Amino acid sequence: MPTINLPGKKKPEPTFNRRINKARYNSPEWIEVRKKKLALNPVCEICKTENAIGVTHKDRIATNAETSKELLYDIDGLLSVCDSCQRKEQIRKRKEAHEQRLKK
Ligand SMILES: [Zn+2]
Repeated sequence: MPTINLPGKKKPEPTFNRRINKARYNSPEWIEVRKKKLALNPVCEICKTENAIGVTHKDRIATNAETSKELLYDIDGLLSVCDSCQRKEQIRKRKEAHEQRLKK
């Protein structure tokens, strides 16, 4: 189905956040801290069985546009995760974000 952009209907924030996140996760700081974290914890810290393929923030807040660099690239705020746990974490954080929006 084609998308019709009606006048006066602005696209919401996510595009902005996504752009910021993309820049962050391509930054040398992130690549460095991610590499360090995976070297430190090569096994998934959630299921403790699979090899970790990536890292994720423990706290959902860390992906907000306002988040400081110190918090974002803080190795103690990260978890090494396998593919399956990373997906589950993304879903959990999305739900959490949704619930917080409902509370406002
Ligand atoms: Zn896992």
